[in-house]
Amino acid sequence: MGAELDNPYRLLPSVDEVLLDPGLAAVAAQLPRELLVTFVQEILGELRSALSRGELDGDGLARRLAAGELATRVIERAAREGRAGIVRAVNATGVVLHTGLGRAPAHPEVAAAMAEVARSYCVLEVDRESAERNQRDDRLSTLLERLTGAEAALAVNNNAGAVLLTLATFARGRETLLSRGELVEIGGSFRMPDVMESAGTRLVEVGTTNRTRIEDYRRALSADTGLLLKVHRSNFRVEGFVEEVSVGELAELGRSARIPSVYDLGSGLFDPPGHVALAGLLPGEPDLLSALASGVDAITFSGDKLLGGPQAGLVAGRRAAIGALRKNPVYRALRLDKVSLAGLERTCELILAGRGDELPARRMLCADPAELAARAQSLAAALERLPDLTVQCAPGASQPGSGSAPGIELATTVVEVRSSSRTTEALTSALRRCDPPVFVRVQRDTVLLDPRTLLDGDEEYVVRAFGAVLGQ
Ligand SMILES: *Cc1c(COP(=O)(O)O)cnc(C)c1O
Repeated sequence: MGAELDNPYRLLPSVDEVLLDPGLAAVAAQLPRELLVTFVQEILGELRSALSRGELDGDGLARRLAAGELATRVIERAAREGRAGIVRAVNATGVVLHTGLGRAPAHPEVAAAMAEVARSYCVLEVDRESAERNQRDDRLSTLLERLTGAEAALAVNNNAGAVLLTLATFARGRETLLSRGELVEIGGSFRMPDVMESAGTRLVEVGTTNRTRIEDYRRALSADTGLLLKVHRSNFRVEGFVEEVSVGELAELGRSARIPSVYDLGSGLFDPPGHVALAGLLPGEPDLLSALASGVDAITFSGDKLLGGPQAGLVAGRRAAIGALRKNPVYRALRLDKVSLAGLERTCELILAGRGDELPARRMLCADPAELAARAQSLAAALERLPDLTVQCAPGASQPGSGSAPGIELATTVVEVRSSSRTTEALTSALRRCDPPVFVRVQRDTVLLDPRTLLDGDEEYVVRAFGAVLGQ
């Protein structure tokens, strides 16, 4: 023992010795041995570096080993492995288009169509009438044209891809004019100047941060101008002494100078006839149909923001512009897979059938405040029955999310939950470790649950998750 305390590293067992611990029999039956070996090596490595940094000495290590720490940590590590990756989650944050939680959840009929084509062959690039090869987004383009009245449309993987495609098509090796007030970062490293650089176009900044006029664009025109771009400032607002160029003015300048104009709309606010108007709930958010009516050559927007479909970048606009995008090899590199395409088609069909308000994201955004209050009250009543919890309803604010309508909050009723035995941090992290995990909002050291973003059946599950967490 003396020699081992002189050299505490010798106290560490070998990987094989650790794996012989009977406490690990259950995880050993579930996970491949190589994976367990990796976990044990990592854990032993962590202990070794704690020794070398002087954070742990021989006595301390001996105590921890005697307490069975190695097996406990392997079990913890195996449990973490089981929680890794993409699984269903419950969103009680009230952020409807939560990028971290996958933005718009699919309508059940949309999800079913996606699952069906995922597990089978499907008619993807072949015309059933003629058996000839066609484009995989032919049908989706037709549906988007019917929905928006645009001359033509196409779909790529996401809106960042759609912007990249328009820049690379119209302005590669040339200049793109963009207002200084619209040089935005959308998040996830999507910064306009960087996107331009990677598309091979030179950015020409026009106007100032707070004021840009059409004259600024006109003065910046040159023989090298390839594109006039407008980007919706999705995630922030500029207030005060502000002036921006309307998309109509930009489109008109483009037409007279024979230069394409593109509007990156982002969220794609779209109010089809016969549907509840989102525009009334999200003041200031530009809408797709007015943007198209302005005469701009192309508009880019996301499929999984306000449209409420799967992830995609959609482009609608003039036939010649969309045709040029389609011919670019970059389009092929950004193409959508069959599952997303099937989901987008079904989403558009639902809207065309007058059923768009059934799409979960739309339904959540339009939820009636009185109904939200009633749901909050019944959730609070169920949570109140659990031990340790102090529960109350309070007026709150939900967010559209994904940079849609920055600064706009939707009135809701939240359930405020405090525990007498757990810290807020302990409560939220335990909820995230439930299966499925529950994500909540925290404000002033209180857990807030917003019923707006709960799907059918989620309320009962949230109550069970709290019960399980408190019983631990
Ligand atoms: C969200 C957004 C993007 C990025 O769209 P993704 O679909 O996330 O790739 C680009 N531009 C604007 C204005 C946006 O709001």
